[in-house]
Amino acid sequence: MDAARLELPADLRPRDGRFGSGPSKVRQEAVDRLAAAAPALLGTSHRRPAVKGQVRRIRDGLRTFFALPDGYEVVLGNGGATLFWDAAVHCLVERRSAHAVFGEFSTKFAEAARAAPFLDVPVVVSSAPGTHPHLEAVDGVDLYALTHCETSTGVAMPVTRPAGTRPEDALVAVDATSAAGGLPVDPAECDAYYFSPQKCFGSEGGLFVALLSPAALARVSALTASGRHVPAMLDLGLAAANSALDQTYNTPAVATLWLMGEQIDWLNEQGGLAWAAKDCAAKAAHLYDWAAARPDASPFVVDPAMRSAVVCTIDIDDAVDAGDVTSALRANGILDTEAYRKLGRNQIRVAVFPAVDPADVERLTGALDFLLTALRR
Ligand SMILES: *Cc1c(COP(=O)(O)O)cnc(C)c1O
Repeated sequence: MDAARLELPADLRPRDGRFGSGPSKVRQEAVDRLAAAAPALLGTSHRRPAVKGQVRRIRDGLRTFFALPDGYEVVLGNGGATLFWDAAVHCLVERRSAHAVFGEFSTKFAEAARAAPFLDVPVVVSSAPGTHPHLEAVDGVDLYALTHCETSTGVAMPVTRPAGTRPEDALVAVDATSAAGGLPVDPAECDAYYFSPQKCFGSEGGLFVALLSPAALARVSALTASGRHVPAMLDLGLAAANSALDQTYNTPAVATLWLMGEQIDWLNEQGGLAWAAKDCAAKAAHLYDWAAARPDASPFVVDPAMRSAVVCTIDIDDAVDAGDVTSALRANGILDTEAYRKLGRNQIRVAVFPAVDPADVERLTGALDFLLTALRR
């Protein structure tokens, strides 16, 4: 049976087939509106009001969306979450960091800290794929690194200050790249909540956005004045100073800014973070319940409390090759449901970010029912 030649019945095809974990679905309404706005926006100076207004729209919109506490700043710059790891190594870690490591992305930040010759070797607390570890206070650690949703495995962890830590001694930095905008959070529980716009914020990649607490901003000022060499692109002080002026240190992708601003406005109109978290949780519950009810599928994350409500990983029983399932989906226009390659499991991975229509998630499970039967070997 050639999986790629299986044709799905029309009623099982989602209207929009984008279920990727990033880049992820960009709402077509937003793209159409961008096209209409383009003549006065794209190809114009990022130091002039048209583009600065978009940076302002993002900063104001996120302040509302996250109900940011007084003193927290929305800081943005080029390079995405991956750049932010290096920026954090230079501007937020004083001597030693501790990392909850439970997948590809959390590993990368720990590696960036380990590679920095001016820092002590980081503390790494890891756990098996499909679970998350618990960080606790460690003497001498001045930054704790959490990952709100480990996109490689579909595990989510709560954002809370690790037990025994005091906000005046240690910062908490949270990689929220796939979580931000879809999972509930209290920004007061951390000092740096950072992400890229190509996941819940329905835009394109290339930018980082960080919600920085007063303590984080003070740490940035102290470390950038300490004599440590900080490359300008990694200097969060420069990023904060430019953000305060509604611009970025160097030239941004203007379309990315616009699409992000549009998505934030849309999310706020729907009911903000409370709406988005409820919407994502309902779509994820539909997928997990579907998997649990099937004899040949199951949620990869065994503990329901650790299951992400934005990135859902579903194990497929050996009787069906998950690669055949994702090939057949792809041939029918349903894209990017492949498992994270390095995890090496017979698995599919489905993102249910706010832009994804709940009716499309229901059509997707209908399509999966059809394919799991058709592709049984
Ligand atoms: C996607 C992702 C990243 C990488 O984001 P970039 O924008 O490619 O730098 C980092 N962390 C997590 C948790 C992610 O999901």
